[in-house]
Amino acid sequence: MSTVAAASRILRCWAEIDLAALERNLKLIRASLPPHIRYVSVVKADAYGHGLHSAAAHLMHAGADLFAVANVTEAAALRELGPGWPILILSPLLPGEETSLMDSDAAATISTAEEVDRFEQAAKAAGRTITVHLKIDTGMGRVGVWHEEAPALYAKVTAAEHVRLAGVFTHFASPDDDVEFTAEQRRRFLRALQRCPGLDPSKLFVHADNSAGIETMPGSSPFNAVRIGLLQFGVLPHPNSMLGQVRTEPVFSFHTRVGLVKRLPGGTTVSYGRTHTLQRDATIAVLCAGYADGMPRAASNRAHVLIHGRRCPVLGRITMDQTIVDVSAVPGVACGDEAVLVGRQDEEEISLAEFSRAADTIPWETLTSVTKRVPRLYKTALGF
Ligand SMILES: *Cc1c(COP(=O)(O)O)cnc(C)c1O
Repeated sequence: MSTVAAASRILRCWAEIDLAALERNLKLIRASLPPHIRYVSVVKADAYGHGLHSAAAHLMHAGADLFAVANVTEAAALRELGPGWPILILSPLLPGEETSLMDSDAAATISTAEEVDRFEQAAKAAGRTITVHLKIDTGMGRVGVWHEEAPALYAKVTAAEHVRLAGVFTHFASPDDDVEFTAEQRRRFLRALQRCPGLDPSKLFVHADNSAGIETMPGSSPFNAVRIGLLQFGVLPHPNSMLGQVRTEPVFSFHTRVGLVKRLPGGTTVSYGRTHTLQRDATIAVLCAGYADGMPRAASNRAHVLIHGRRCPVLGRITMDQTIVDVSAVPGVACGDEAVLVGRQDEEEISLAEFSRAADTIPWETLTSVTKRVPRLYKTALGF
């Protein structure tokens, strides 16, 4: 029995994280990009639920140039791994978070003149410098200075003595399904940069492309970095993505066990709300995972799980701690058997994309919805 089989034997629901695949993915993505392009590894939300420390340590090893997180708490947690790694915080900072920012030696995203004043004041008072990346809103309508106003903010940032500009960036709203709007966002960004006197792209991180964007990145342009989240975890942002050519492997899989097997007569209704009626006598298995583990309730009556390498449909509503599946077609299912919610079992696979579609959501949300109750088992090149 492998170590993971031994380790998981007493677990009711767990996730397996393949850190060797994560490293291979980063190297593959890098190899598909021109050599001068730097790699900003997005590890917000506990590295998309994979576990920040384990994931980031392996991403560092594989050659990430900069890490992006959501907030000062995540930056502080990442800094525990060691000094020196550049960290960028993507969300706006609240007043009072500047000290934590400086203590973590992280860079902030800047969108407003008020932030420049606040950072300048805090850095000056501490006798330190705050590093920032200027974000330009080219049509996402979220963080960043509106592109037409970017030159004025750029001038203010460069004039602030205790604020140091390390990068400029923007974010695409529909990189996977609106090529024209993405191109328009690129034009707005480049036009804004041209209107910033003295801005030398070669001295800054200039980045726009996330997992879905990099396929449309122009060959020669001021862009010199990409910002990759989902793809490094081996998940394609879009089923028709050209990135399918980059052969990344899934890093995450999701597992539970059969807690109970029983026969029920035809006509019985299953679970809360009686949304499923058995058409004939059936053998059902009650699984040890529910929505409190990250098995989304929206996947009720829609998802499938793998048991003994066979697809078994979810019956009725997914409940907090349990999910009911039909195992009538699978002989010999017994209490304690493993059920795969996302991942491979023998020849069958339930991809994260399929699981997410069944729950009417996107892979980003699925990964970040696996709860604290679920232990992560880490697999390295040497095994678990
Ligand atoms: C989350 C995030 C990313 C990463 O996006 P993926 O689609 O996961 O690659 C990049 N940039 C910003 C601003 C983000 O918030």
